[in-house]
Amino acid sequence: MGPPSMAAAALLAGRRVCALIGAGLSVSSGIPDFRSPGGMYDTLRPELLTASELERRAMRADPTAVVSWEIFSRNQLPYLELRRPFMLGVLDKEEKGKDTYKPTLGHFFFRVCHDKGLLKRLYTQNIDGLDYKTGIPNDKIISVHGSLGRVECEGCKTPYPSEKFCSEVREKIKDIYNIDEHAPKESRPIECLSCGKPLVKPATVLYGRNLPPEFWERKDEDMQDLDVLIVAGTSLAVQPAASLVTLTNKRSARIVVNKEEVERNFPV
Ligand SMILES: [Zn+2]
Repeated sequence: MGPPSMAAAALLAGRRVCALIGAGLSVSSGIPDFRSPGGMYDTLRPELLTASELERRAMRADPTAVVSWEIFSRNQLPYLELRRPFMLGVLDKEEKGKDTYKPTLGHFFFRVCHDKGLLKRLYTQNIDGLDYKTGIPNDKIISVHGSLGRVECEGCKTPYPSEKFCSEVREKIKDIYNIDEHAPKESRPIECLSCGKPLVKPATVLYGRNLPPEFWERKDEDMQDLDVLIVAGTSLAVQPAASLVTLTNKRSARIVVNKEEVERNFPV
């Protein structure tokens, strides 16, 4: 919460602010982003994952296939293997004790906006839960792509205890990153305690699945009833989240802060 963010918040004084943020905001906390060179998709190595040749080919053609319902519904292991350290870093109490991931200055900028009575809603595409760690109230945050912060069955939606999930992940999911010497050599499925299907995962939205109802319920009114939309740390490549920038009223300003140009994806 340094002087630049305070100054920026002062500039916005008296205005109603909504924000749309993405992975770029969490990079400096140590969480890999997805689309930049060196990000999760760029470094994806399908040959390390427990998958059929057909599934690997799909991941090579489009790395987001690894987080798609199409693959997960048939084979849950690539998702769990890819996300193993990330899931444990967010969910595991032991890991939390080390404060693995903390909100960044960018996250706290929106806390300053909230404290000054400016923030109407924060739409986050991030699944890391860092937005909530800033102390911004839950009802001001919409996790467009779900959250890693809780675990449930993708089939019957029954919640699964986080601690049990972490110990299952440690015991059953192999470590393609070679950082956990106690990890098994081969992965086994984690079954739902209610329906028994191996569809247990953090409550993130897979490609090909519906976004949370609050996104659909709030977006039109929020984008009409605002003065400034701040877009930060997102390349606006993923729909329907990116469509928010097209819904703002004509009087409002749209401010983009991103490492790479978003012009191609950003309708004027
Ligand atoms: Zn289930």
